[in-house]
Amino acid sequence: MAETEHELKFAETVSIGTELLLGQIVDSNAAELGALFAECGIGHRYRQTVGDSLPRMVDGLRLALSRSDIVITIGGLGPTADDLTRQAIAEALDDELILDDSVKKHLIDLLEKRRVPIVESQFRQAMRPSCSEIIPNPNGSAPGLIARKGGKIVVALPGPPNEFRPMIRGAVRDLLVEQGDGVIASHEFRIVGVSEASLDEQLADLMSAEDVTLAPYAKLGEIHLRATTRAADSNEAESKMQNVIQTIRSRMGNTVYSESGQTLAEAIVAQLRSLGQTLGVAESCTGGLLGGAITSVSGSSEVFAGGFLTYATEQKHLMMGVPHEILRSPDMGAVSEECALAMAEGVRSKLGVDWGVSITGVVGTEEYEENGVQKPNGLVFIGVAGPNGAKAHRNLFMGSRETVRGRATAQALILLRRHLLKIELD
Ligand code: ATP
Ligand code: MG
Repeated sequence: MAETEHELKFAETVSIGTELLLGQIVDSNAAELGALFAECGIGHRYRQTVGDSLPRMVDGLRLALSRSDIVITIGGLGPTADDLTRQAIAEALDDELILDDSVKKHLIDLLEKRRVPIVESQFRQAMRPSCSEIIPNPNGSAPGLIARKGGKIVVALPGPPNEFRPMIRGAVRDLLVEQGDGVIASHEFRIVGVSEASLDEQLADLMSAEDVTLAPYAKLGEIHLRATTRAADSNEAESKMQNVIQTIRSRMGNTVYSESGQTLAEAIVAQLRSLGQTLGVAESCTGGLLGGAITSVSGSSEVFAGGFLTYATEQKHLMMGVPHEILRSPDMGAVSEECALAMAEGVRSKLGVDWGVSITGVVGTEEYEENGVQKPNGLVFIGVAGPNGAKAHRNLFMGSRETVRGRATAQALILLRRHLLKIELD
């Protein structure tokens, strides 16, 4: 066992460019590299961003070399005066820059073909640290570099994503797989109807285990729980994960709506398709967000008939047939359990669908009053009418107008799922 295990290597990304520091561009290249490290079994503990300044780049690279085995720079390989990465790498490795004749020749060919006049500064791109080799760039003029010295590896990649991406999928990936230690496997559960605290309690013993790490991530109304492990190969990874996956499945039961990266709306559309049932919506305070979420799923036309945007109180009567007695009563009103029920039943019968879902509530104002009664911000009633009857659910969400609207939409999907699966409702 001991001789087959080789030591885990650590990589560090150094993104170069003042525009990254100023927030003018987002470091999407570094994010792609992060995913690649994980895939190749390379550890990743640090990431730096450095402006276009030679001394700061050299500092950053030296720091990276002091604590990481593989350092990958992004950007600053172009022909202009602020493209200093080659020089910085040479300095940080105590190496010198040499002119690479094959790159120079390639550049001359390229420029002649494009009929661009040749300027001496172009040949900066043909310089490389003497300890490096070239990664060809079929989509641009600046090649990438792989430098090796003193047991360390420095890789330099161009910034433009269309030049960067082919390199990380080709030469860099090969290098990382060769340097990598086994594989990193992960599995994601998407969970609804459980609070983060309760999830933490139910899985406390697994949360503190070292072999497989669990990372919960709370999103609007749901939790994404990722289990991750590192292993020598995919078989070992699978056997390490299997126990944990089974335990989570059995403990979390039907609160797990997906293990394959589906969204909640996708899971609901799939569920409706498998039941051969249809859906319609009636929305007030969410103004179409629920219909939007469902129709964003490809294939939703098979199950989604349509919806009503009944924003004004009178439209709830005219379009959905909500009786005036409900809308005008101080005990009920447009924001009430009775109104949500009538809207859900209204859409179900008007569209002739199996399921009608309604949303009516107060969003983004503390001053809402109807029929002489004050109603708080975030008070939202969600109605679900289906083949076995109808039910309205009272919710009190906190937050801004946008937050409450988002939460109400998410909660409507969660409640519909519970009705579809006949999960007991409180
Ligand atoms: P060029 O030859 O075009 O100068 P370069 O390798 O010198 O390429 P930079 O000058 O640093 O790269 O960046 C060129 C462009 O590439 C940026 O304007 C930006 O659009 C994109 N870019 C640079 N770094 C990143 C990054 N980390 N993530 C995403 N895009 C980036
Ligand atoms: Mg540049």
